[in-house]
Parts: sequence; structure tokens; C-alpha cells
Amino acid sequence: MKQVNIIGAGLAGSEAALQLAKRGINVNLYEMRPDKSTGAHKTGNFAEFVCSNSLGSYDITNASGLLKHEMEELSSELMPLIFEAKVPAGGALAIDRTLFSQKITQLIENNPFINVIRKEVEEINTDIPTIIASGPLTSEALTKEIKIFLGEEYLFFFDAIAPIIEKDSIDFNKAFLLNRYNKGTADYINCPMNKEEYEKFYNILINSPKIELKEFEKNAAFFESCLPIEVLASRGIDTLRYGPLKPVGLIDKRTGLENYAVVQLRQDNKAASLYNIVGFQTNLKWGSQKELIHSIPGLENANIVRYGVMHRNTFINSPKTLNPSLQSRKNKNIFFAGQITGTEGYTESIASGLLAGINMWKYLNNEQLIELSDEMMLGALMKYITFEGHKSFQPINSNWGILAPMEMDKKTKKNKKLKNELLANRAINAARIISGKI
Ligand SMILES: Cc1cc2nc3c(=O)[nH]c(=O)nc-3n(C[C@H](O)[C@H](O)[C@H](O)COP(=O)(O)OP(=O)(O)OC[C@H]3O[C@@H](n4cnc5c(N)ncnc54)[C@H](O)[C@@H]3O)c2cc1C
Repeated sequence: MKQVNIIGAGLAGSEAALQLAKRGINVNLYEMRPDKSTGAHKTGNFAEFVCSNSLGSYDITNASGLLKHEMEELSSELMPLIFEAKVPAGGALAIDRTLFSQKITQLIENNPFINVIRKEVEEINTDIPTIIASGPLTSEALTKEIKIFLGEEYLFFFDAIAPIIEKDSIDFNKAFLLNRYNKGTADYINCPMNKEEYEKFYNILINSPKIELKEFEKNAAFFESCLPIEVLASRGIDTLRYGPLKPVGLIDKRTGLENYAVVQLRQDNKAASLYNIVGFQTNLKWGSQKELIHSIPGLENANIVRYGVMHRNTFINSPKTLNPSLQSRKNKNIFFAGQITGTEGYTESIASGLLAGINMWKYLNNEQLIELSDEMMLGALMKYITFEGHKSFQPINSNWGILAPMEMDKKTKKNKKLKNELLANRAINAARIISGKI
């Protein structure tokens, strides 16, 4: 009899359990709640939405919307229940979270293939095929176990994400490519500021509202090298000009001069379509981040694919430890799914639970595991989190910049809606081919 352990009945674990159960696999689904909570969950129900009740857009020309359509093509078990619990929310797909998690809990508890075990897992039995889907707030005991399994350097506890920008939206009449002291190839994009521009930027930064940290996050100390930009700025008006915005060694060839301050952007993906803003990890609210970024010369029309965040988040070093199939490189019995893999967001968590469930079933049947094409949003996410070339790996959510580039003329490229429609059609075709194989 084939048997799988799943640790965590959150969004990813619930989807993975239902995927395996519908294929006739017996699942032991371990969940520590309600006896032990994470600090963010409020109930003992499965697949609980811990914060907002929105999954973002369902529009196929939106990156998160496309991911949902792909999940439907791959027969997600949670998607139909999301629609059953849907509440009106304009363009967003929002749900009655209580109704949703009650339905999932009932469905799972009544499933003859799923044995629910309400218990904190403190040890990983690597002899049994296991999906670890314990989420961003994995319990301390299990965190220690994962550390032992993967190695200490392969586990992180805090997001410190700087915003990520689409390169195509940067104004290169103002920005220039150069490495500090002209070393090596010109890898960095530099946005120069004069005194007036810097002061305007500084005032927005210092006066912007910040996101309140949750109670369980307040004890988390920031590393000095990873301080939020607003904390650095609060130390004095020139601190940033001697820190991440220092202009030295960045002579602008067009003027032959050093600028008053320079914002640098570093390549973020292999295709060089995404750049992160160096040193801009932040707790500013998203509206303020947008205002701040758009005040930077060259970034006035920047398309921000990922806002900066800093919060507690347990995630593994997927680039060094996972395959795009979500199988661990260290032990074939062990798969990871959900936010712990370094994807971020409700939809993304369910989507990786779906893939882990399907691939675990393939693994049990000695079939080749699915590695999705990066023409699909889910495939592109898997490729991003397992890409070994990241300088500093930080979680990511769905965005257009990670998809494989597609040939199109300049006019189409500039028409965002048309461009996204073409990318979405290609993704759905790829998803249909895969769904024929599962
Ligand atoms: C505070 C907070 C707010 C967030 N808000 C949003 C938001 O508004 N929108 C959004 O898109 N994303 C949000 N996220 C990110 C993410 O989408 C959610 O955390 C999502 O629930 C992750 O899904 P998951 O399945 O990976 O983990 P979870 O849904 O957290 O599921 C993990 C499960 O594992 C259980 N578990 C942990 N350790 C053990 C153990 N040792 N033994 C047994 N069970 C265990 C937990 O109790 C939990 O039920 C938020 C994250 C956090 C932390």
C-alpha cells in the first residue's frame, strides 16, 4: 500500500493531500493546530487564510490571474472551493475565509484516503515519502529538524526583500549602466540624483507610513547589513549617501561628473528582465513605496513587479536544495511545497502544493517527474526558486518578468494588455499539454 506523509494542512498541504487522495494514495496529514498555533492562524481549520481574504486578480492578463487559470487547467482541488466561497470584491478573487476553510476541513476529514493526525511533527522520517508544507511559520522543533536535514546554511528566517522592477520600464535617457570604479562589465543600472532630487526622495522616505510588525515578529532582530532603508534614513539625511546610495566611483560618462547620490539596480533573473533596487529592503506601505520609487530619476514609470517586505518567513534555500519538480536533491523521498520553498502568496502556495502532490504520485509510480516549462507562470516560479545563480535568494510571487521571453514586435511589446494576452495564451497551451500527461 502506497503511503505519504504530509506535514502541514495549510494551503499547500491541503491541495497536495487532495491531489494524492484522488489518485488513490493513502496520506497521513499532520497538522499541529489547534493544540499549537503559529501566532498568525486563528482556528484549527485547514487551509486558513491568515491575513487578507483576497487571492488577488483572476484576470488572465494579470500574473496572479494567469497562475489561477493554469491551476484550473491542472485540475486544482482547491480552486472550485474557492469559487464556492467567493464574495464580491471588484476585480479581485476574494472569499469568505471561514466558509472556505470549513469546507476544506470537512472534505479532507471525510476523505477515506486521508488520515488526519493532529500533532506537531518534530522529526522527519526520511524513509517515508513526505511532503513538507509547514509554511512560513513552521514550528521551532520542525525548523530544527529541517536544518539538520538540509544543513544550517540552507534555511532562512526573515524576508528582507527589496522591490523588483521590470527593466523595460526604466528610462535609460536618465539611468546608465556601470559598475562602481568601472570594474568588470557594466552590470548595474544606476539612477543618478542631484541634491534637490535627493532631498525630495528623502522627505518622501522619512514621512511615509510603515507597516506595523506583528507581535510574533517584533523580537526578530534585523541584521545591521540588512536594515530597512527607512531605518537607515532615520539616522540622518546623509546616511544613505554614505550607504546604499553612495555616488563614489560612479562617474556618469555623459557629464563626466560624480552625482550627489545614486540608486543602483542589480540584475534579478537570468533573462535580465528584472532588476532589484540595491539596499531598498523596507517596511513602507506599498502606496508609499510606489511614490518613493517613482520619485527616482529614471524610474518615474517603473513597473514594480514586487514590493519590498521585511517579515518573519521560514524558507529554505531552494536554489541549492530543490529541483524544479519540488523534490529535494538530498533525498528523493522528501518534497517541499508552499511558502517554505520561497514562493510567496496564497495562490502560489496552493499552486506548488498541486505540483508537489502530482510529482509525489509520479515518484511513487516510478514515473518521470514533471518539470514545467517556464512559459507557464508556475513553471517560471519553479525555475526562479531553483535557479542556482541568485546572489541573495529571496522569495518571489507571480510576475510577468520571470516568464520565458517571447518573440513579438515592438508595438505589441509596448501594449501591456496585448503582450500579456499573448504570454497567457502560450502559458495555457503549455498547461493543456501537461494536463494531458497527468
Ligand atoms: C502573517 C502572514 C500574513 C500573510 N498574508 C498574506 C496575504 O494577505 N496574502 C497572501 O497572498 N499571502 C499572505 N501570506 C503568505 C502566504 O501566502 C501564507 O502564509 C500561506 O498561508 C502559505 O501557505 P502554506 O501552505 O505554505 O503555509 P500555511 O498555510 O501556513 O500552512 C502551514 C501549516 O503547517 C502547520 N505546521 C507548521 N509546523 C508544523 C509542525 N511541526 N507539525 C505539524 N503542522 C505544522 C501550520 O499550523 C499550518 O497549518 C502571509 C503570511 C504570513 C506569515
